[in-house]
Amino acid sequence: MELSGQMELSAEHAALRATVEDFARKEVAPVIADLYEQGTFPYALVAKMGEMGLFGLPFPERYGGMGGDYFALCLALEELARVDSSVAITLEDSVSLGTMPIFRFGTEEQKQHWLPDLCTGKRIGAFGLTEPGGGSDARATRTTARCDGDEWVINGSKSFITNSGTDITSVVTVTAITGVNGGRKEISTIMVPAGHPGFTVSKNYSKVGWKCSDTRELYFDDCRVPVGNLLGERGRGYAQFLSILDEGRIAIAALGVGLAQGCIDECVAYARHRHAFGHAIGSYQAIQFKIADMEARAHTARLTYYHAAARMLRGQPFKKESAIAKLVSSNAAMDNARDATQVFGGYGFMNEYPVARFYRDAKVLEIGEGTSEIQRLLIARHLGLN
Ligand SMILES: Cc1cc2nc3c(=O)[nH]c(=O)nc-3n(C[C@H](O)[C@H](O)[C@H](O)COP(=O)(O)OP(=O)(O)OC[C@H]3O[C@@H](n4cnc5c(N)ncnc54)[C@H](O)[C@@H]3O)c2cc1C
Repeated sequence: MELSGQMELSAEHAALRATVEDFARKEVAPVIADLYEQGTFPYALVAKMGEMGLFGLPFPERYGGMGGDYFALCLALEELARVDSSVAITLEDSVSLGTMPIFRFGTEEQKQHWLPDLCTGKRIGAFGLTEPGGGSDARATRTTARCDGDEWVINGSKSFITNSGTDITSVVTVTAITGVNGGRKEISTIMVPAGHPGFTVSKNYSKVGWKCSDTRELYFDDCRVPVGNLLGERGRGYAQFLSILDEGRIAIAALGVGLAQGCIDECVAYARHRHAFGHAIGSYQAIQFKIADMEARAHTARLTYYHAAARMLRGQPFKKESAIAKLVSSNAAMDNARDATQVFGGYGFMNEYPVARFYRDAKVLEIGEGTSEIQRLLIARHLGLN
């Protein structure tokens, strides 16, 4: 599948987008408000998404994947987030942070072992980089992994790790200091199976938004895993997760665009039938302009992630473009969520309305997988400002 120069979708991409749109409207929309209110992980929806092949979208068929590309994943995320972001982030995290590192850096044996279940969504994956002491400064990692014979002995903790404690979590890949090289910390990535002795998780955090997604603290207390659980080359962990995050930012941008678009969908419908002073509020220019600005933001943000994805698929550098896409899209999501809540008036503050959920879910897009400040730093570095 290829993205055309005109930024129009190929027939396969368009068909996938339509299938996920239909799923989100018919299967996610009717149940998500209740799940969100209860803060329940959406197991049944995840199982359905697994049957649809969404967890295997960008992976080869030989590992149980769909043989698609990363842009296909982004389109699916946009359509899911148009209806709900908790479901979308569960997919995003498992595919781009949980499974992708194994696919990119794993040995053939590791791929054969982990990917088939992850690609079918029977199990989900997680990636643990952030620690209580900090996330933006990833080199500040304190978790250690000491080599003892044919085992790594892991000690430390990780914070805010998505998908890490569900009943279907299979593996969490974590960064850990495995030594010191030339005075610098040697950081490596190691796979830890869920439920492994010495590895425990906290209860699910109580969050402002993404209420149905699973986010926990991880603890490692002399957790021993085989040396064969090292992912990729020893000491390359920092470079590995930087490249994984470059891609992940495009996926998060798609999620932000979906949320921004969902706000527009809701507002257009509401503004047509809500009356004030004898007229539909959508007939007032103040409301029209607000919704027009929302459309302009979503459209612009969509182009930034399409462009970043196109560069990535063509094998061109895309670090700056993915940072721009994430920055612009998370801004669009925040601004649209705020404006959509305003268009809905008092109903916009009631949890039963999707725009209230969008409002709660938008903020984290400016934080997760690199804050907006970090995106600006990355962009500035590309302009030669160090
Ligand atoms: C719901 C949720 C899910 C998450 N899921 C995962 C996950 O699955 N895996 C994972 O590893 N992490 C995950 N995270 C962690 C997330 O990636 C971090 O929260 C994020 O990277 C920021 O790190 P921090 O919270 O430690 O903030 P800090 O790094 O402490 O930053 C605090 C503030 O300082 C700013 N700042 C920091 N450094 C600079 C600088 N040099 N210049 C200017 N400003 C700066 C930041 O932008 C921010 O505003 C998740 C977080 C949340 C909230």
